[in-house]
Amino acid sequence: MTIAPRAALYGAILFCLAVSYSGTSSCREAEGGIVLSFDDRYVEEWYSLRELFIRYKARATFFITGFDRLDEEGVRMLKELQHDGHEIGSHGFRHVNATQFVKGRRVQDYLKEEILPSVEAMMMKGFTPTSFSYPYGAHNRAIDEIVAPYFKRIRGTAPSSRGKGLENMKDIYYKCDGQKILYGVGIDSSYGHSIGDIIKGLDYAKMQKEIILLHSHRPSGDGSPYTLPPSAIEEILRHASEIGLKFYTFSELR
Ligand SMILES: [Zn+2]
Repeated sequence: MTIAPRAALYGAILFCLAVSYSGTSSCREAEGGIVLSFDDRYVEEWYSLRELFIRYKARATFFITGFDRLDEEGVRMLKELQHDGHEIGSHGFRHVNATQFVKGRRVQDYLKEEILPSVEAMMMKGFTPTSFSYPYGAHNRAIDEIVAPYFKRIRGTAPSSRGKGLENMKDIYYKCDGQKILYGVGIDSSYGHSIGDIIKGLDYAKMQKEIILLHSHRPSGDGSPYTLPPSAIEEILRHASEIGLKFYTFSELR
């Protein structure tokens, strides 16, 4: 196989984004929606949700870090998830904290060491990531400016929200205004939001005709940090489906 030079790869990414992205000032879909995403590299656990997603006609975005460390089986599972309609986005090459990284270093180094190698590793295996989530939700304006041209959408993390109802966290609802950098709320059990809270957030999105952004890491009922039991995921999917929220992946947002 001929390996395309880096410059050609990145040129291809920017070209794709230029022709496919156009912001808009109003929601085309007026029924409200949900974007569910998962971070890191729990490919086997994500894959185990496949049937659940199919049952509820739900689609998610999987943000992967350390893509180059996946074995062939991991790549195959991600391809199947993508084939089902899910999106595979980038979560960085080595999961570094961007704001820590740029202390005393050039912002361009973050692009060169963390963003481009991640995109390149994915492209080498036939994926074209068009969305990105910041590890630890860490970023600032200078970092955003340098990363933004490479993606259609970028996800950060809403400020700490423990004890705050999701219906009161206005930042986690996308208003179809073309905003590129969006903020989700973590819903792993350790973040302290009950299923009841999350359901209220879904109802709020429906009422406001906005799109709620939720993220998790590892689907598991073992109670360890950064996990969400598959039964909780099913409750979210079921309720979203019952009230008619539309499922979006990040790159599908208009
Ligand atoms: Zn992460």
